[in-house]
Amino acid sequence: MERVYNFSAGPSMLPEKVLKIAAEQMLNYEDSGQSVMEMSHRSKVYDEIIKTAEQDLRDLMNIPDNYKVLFLQGGASTQFAMVPLNLMTKNKKADYVITGQWSKKAFSEANLYGQARKVASSEDKIFNYIPKLDKSMFDPEADYVHTTTNNTIYGTKYHTVPDTGNVPLVTDMSSCILSEPVDVKKYGLIYAGAQKNVGPAGVTIAIIRDDLIGNAMDITPTMLKYQIHADNDSLYNTPPCYGIYVCGLVFKYLKELGGLEKMEQINIEKAKILYDFLDESSMFKGTVVKEDRSLMNVPFITGDDELNAKFIKEATANGFVNLKGHRSVGGMRASIYNAMPTEGVVALVDFMKKFEADNK
Ligand SMILES: *Cc1c(COP(=O)(O)O)cnc(C)c1O
Repeated sequence: MERVYNFSAGPSMLPEKVLKIAAEQMLNYEDSGQSVMEMSHRSKVYDEIIKTAEQDLRDLMNIPDNYKVLFLQGGASTQFAMVPLNLMTKNKKADYVITGQWSKKAFSEANLYGQARKVASSEDKIFNYIPKLDKSMFDPEADYVHTTTNNTIYGTKYHTVPDTGNVPLVTDMSSCILSEPVDVKKYGLIYAGAQKNVGPAGVTIAIIRDDLIGNAMDITPTMLKYQIHADNDSLYNTPPCYGIYVCGLVFKYLKELGGLEKMEQINIEKAKILYDFLDESSMFKGTVVKEDRSLMNVPFITGDDELNAKFIKEATANGFVNLKGHRSVGGMRASIYNAMPTEGVVALVDFMKKFEADNK
């Protein structure tokens, strides 16, 4: 079988160039005589790998010096607990904006440790938009405000950073990190599971401002303290070594491509091909309010469950895989992360046009 166009929401495609380098280096990494998978995380050669990965991420995202970059485990879902355990410690309350299943989970986890307040929600319209926010809606006494920048399941995205005044903004960027430039200093903490837009599952990236580190609740397990990972440069215990190495290859690849400005330009053009088609098609329709559309996850429907199923089946047979929408919403969803080539989206749209003509 040839390589398919994989529209999975995560784990998802990686750049072919990166996979080839990883394959070449599999048995013998840079003359070390070992695979990265076999190396001690305390070795000099691994130290170089993790330090370089961190520096390249700093360069790509323009991360200021007063932020720590941490490579953690446990996925974004562990951050749902780590955030309140470490940050909900001054006034023991935090504000959450609910824009989908992931923010709901983050919200209920926070309620285990303090008082999380729902500031706004788009659940009334099955999360097909981002609520309008302004500073007056946030509690100035909150320890932080939490948002989900890109909503993987529903295909919405914040196109502006909410103004939270002096309250630190914490955001889950699992499904859009590295898709476009980010003004890191507008956030107190950015976290993301790697498996959507960065690298293999098993790595979680946290970018946290210095002053938010070191105030964890007493009950916080050691492994869930940002401080312990910051003090040990993400080497307190064995990190997900191989995953971090592949993330590092992706960072290098993005730098060589021209950085996040270039990546964003490609992503905008790529998403436009699909959205333009959805806007003109009489069979397929996008489900999200136009101004809040995601560049990464594009849900769409035909309005007929049987036709949806037929489409998904035929698409799969033609090498367009994982187009089924999330089980909670149905329909279709094309996840077109950084590594999805533009040709993949062009080919998908061609296939959709043909399907539409054949099923009139
Ligand atoms: C996938 C996803 C998660 C869950 O990530 P895990 O790494 O599986 O815990 C959380 N938030 C968002 C926005 C996601 O897309």
